[in-house]
Amino acid sequence: MQNTRFFNNNKALGVILILIFAFTPIKSFCHSGGDHADEEVNIYSGRKGKLIEPMLEKFQKETDIKVNLITAKSDALIKRMESEGKSSPADLFITVDVGRLDRAKRMGLLQNIDSFSILNKVSPYYVDKDRQWISISKRIRTVVVSKKMKDKNDLKNIEDLANDQWKNRICVRSSNNIYNQSLVASLIANHGEEKAETLIKKIVKNFARKPSGNDRAQISAVSKGECDIAIVNHYYHLLMLNSKESEKKKAGNATEVKFLNQNNRGAHVNISGVAIPKNAKNYENAKQLISFMLDKDAQEWYAKTNNEFPVIKDAKTSQMLSSWGNIKLDEASLNKLGDLNPNAVKLMDRVGWQ
Ligand code: FE
Repeated sequence: MQNTRFFNNNKALGVILILIFAFTPIKSFCHSGGDHADEEVNIYSGRKGKLIEPMLEKFQKETDIKVNLITAKSDALIKRMESEGKSSPADLFITVDVGRLDRAKRMGLLQNIDSFSILNKVSPYYVDKDRQWISISKRIRTVVVSKKMKDKNDLKNIEDLANDQWKNRICVRSSNNIYNQSLVASLIANHGEEKAETLIKKIVKNFARKPSGNDRAQISAVSKGECDIAIVNHYYHLLMLNSKESEKKKAGNATEVKFLNQNNRGAHVNISGVAIPKNAKNYENAKQLISFMLDKDAQEWYAKTNNEFPVIKDAKTSQMLSSWGNIKLDEASLNKLGDLNPNAVKLMDRVGWQ
């Protein structure tokens, strides 16, 4: 009886997935001149097309490997790979946040990247300890503060946010956001769960309002005086500074980025990264594309386009990011954040981070 129900449910799910699949646009990059390429690579990307397409087009042109791109929300793509199982066409998964890459790994959806020439391009801190994902850019989750704030120099470490001084002054998005989960996981990695819980509990008490909105909304809230400190990823401040919308630009100009923990372990760092799904049919082509993404030119283009930092040593950081000087990063924690994600989620729930 139960088996039949399971079968029926699965059948229904299969029909739904086929329908979703049929209506999801697949972008492929045609190029003039060459014959129809026999080789291909199918990408599932949680990153928007405009942030990766020119790089993929260049890869296709240089290698004659046809690139097919599907973009959607990262968590939906993870679910999709899980449901598709062995019939999944995905050869490469592109997403952001180590917590999310590690979730796909724990679900058994990924396989080892079996190439030392690729793995050696990047510092071991930025490669999964089991070789199931590799970083392609770095981002820093830190604070943006009001330029008017008089006591901003008192804020030196992420741990300082637990002090009474910041009561009703902190804005941040909700706990179901993976960026926040990884930030909390980094505090567990560095202090142990008990101390991390005490700190996070106090930080939550200092929130100026109920968490809502995205990172940009937190920066806007600071510029409107709803709070003095926003916990955000560094590139959102740059996106607002460069925005064509006057309100956003104004918010960018009214605020500044501060990097924390510079006199100890370094600022909390996260990544965007790639992984090869377990059922990839074009494994060698996926590896070739990863290697291409880690070449100097691709690294510089991709990092600049996303306002992020490249992961290979030779690649230049954009002028805007270089102007911030050398930022010390907490690289040692990165490989622990995925394993600690379930602990972080439970901890945030216990202390009432909504
Ligand atoms: Fe983001």
